[in-house]
Amino acid sequence: MPVLDSGLLVVLGCPRCKGPLVVHGERALEKLRCERCRCAWPVEDGVPQLLPELGRWWDSPID
Ligand SMILES: [Zn+2]
Repeated sequence: MPVLDSGLLVVLGCPRCKGPLVVHGERALEKLRCERCRCAWPVEDGVPQLLPELGRWWDSPID
């Protein structure tokens, strides 16, 4: 699993609020989290999937 470029994440930002994204890696399961609006975004093959319909709330069950 490629390591995400934190600089790229800053450029991308959160699709919903444009806030900074934080990588939360759990072995092969990586996610991006926005601490501003509390959304999580999936990562597939090292590529952030930042489509608004793919965002999940932190407080909601994921997967
Ligand atoms: Zn956000």
